[in-house]
Amino acid sequence: MKKSDISHKAKDLLRSANLNCTRSQILILEKLLQVSRPLSRDEIIKTLGKSSPDQATVYRVLKRFCEKGIIHKAYLQSRAWKYELAHNCTETQCHPHFTCTGCGKTFCLKNSFLPLIKNLEKGFVFHRQQVRVEGLCSMCS
Ligand SMILES: [Zn+2]
Ligand SMILES: [Zn+2]
Repeated sequence: MKKSDISHKAKDLLRSANLNCTRSQILILEKLLQVSRPLSRDEIIKTLGKSSPDQATVYRVLKRFCEKGIIHKAYLQSRAWKYELAHNCTETQCHPHFTCTGCGKTFCLKNSFLPLIKNLEKGFVFHRQQVRVEGLCSMCS
């Protein structure tokens, strides 16, 4: 995606979620659109470098984006949540993530879908399904 397209898309997403196009919200969303893989809060701050908003702001913005459903917590790695855009997911299901036990990288399986869980125990209420797969990636296998 071109830089102008990314910035356009970021503003569209903010508007569609009824959020203001503030500098920090645009920066964080642009970063997630640009890399198109899950990033932790610290990775966002690091890759934004000098232009990054402070930690507390990034934390607040990510929380707000999650609440509005424009990003998801994709998975936990080294005790840090990795966040990614929700536009590759449906309302009930995120694409699965594949963690390589060789190199430790995690990949988005954007074209893989699993059937939704059935026969939940009585009293359990289903919200979303997120699946994590372990194995070896194409480089390590
Ligand atoms: Zn690997
Ligand atoms: Zn993903």
